[in-house]
Amino acid sequence: MSAAGRSGLTARAARERSEQERPTRRRLVVDCVRLDAGSVDRIEVDDECILHEPGVPGALVVDGAVRLEAVVRAAGGSLVADGRVVGVWAAECRRCLEEVRGPLEAPLQEVFEWEPTDGETWPIDDHRIDLAPAAREAAVLALPLAPLCSEDCAGPVPGRFPTGPAAADFTAGGGV
Ligand SMILES: [Zn+2]
Repeated sequence: MSAAGRSGLTARAARERSEQERPTRRRLVVDCVRLDAGSVDRIEVDDECILHEPGVPGALVVDGAVRLEAVVRAAGGSLVADGRVVGVWAAECRRCLEEVRGPLEAPLQEVFEWEPTDGETWPIDDHRIDLAPAAREAAVLALPLAPLCSEDCAGPVPGRFPTGPAAADFTAGGGV
C-alpha cells in the first residue's frame, strides 16, 4: 500500500469514489506517428484521466481526476509536451485537520524519448506516449504542503491547545 493510502483523508476519498460511477481511464495515450512522420507539426491534447496514486500523506487530487491541456511537438528525435494539468486538491488543515479544498493547476513541460533518461524524460513506445504519469508528477508537485482552512484557524480545541496566530504571538511576545 502506498504512503498516501494510509491517510484517513485518502480512505475517505476512496469511499466516495466507490459510491459513484468508477472512472477507469488511467492512461492518456497520444499517438504521435504523424508527428514523427512530419505530416503535422503539433498535436493538441485536451483530455481527462484518473491518476495512479494521486496524492501524498495529507493531500491528494480529488478522485485522482485531472484534465490535461497540452500541445505535443517533435523536437529532434524526441517529443515535447507543453501545457497544464487542472483538477481539485483536498488536504487536511494543518491546525484543525478539517478538509480543505482548492483549485489545482500545474504547468506541464515534459520530454519523451525513445531511450528515456530515468527520472528526467519519459518513454516513447511505438510512436505513442502516455501523458498520465507526467500529469501525475506535475499534479502531485503542485499539492499544498501545509494548507490552512483559513488564515485565523484556531485549531480543534483553542481553549486548551491554542495553535492559531494568537498562540504564535504569545510565544513571540514572551507573554506580554
Ligand atoms: Zn483549520
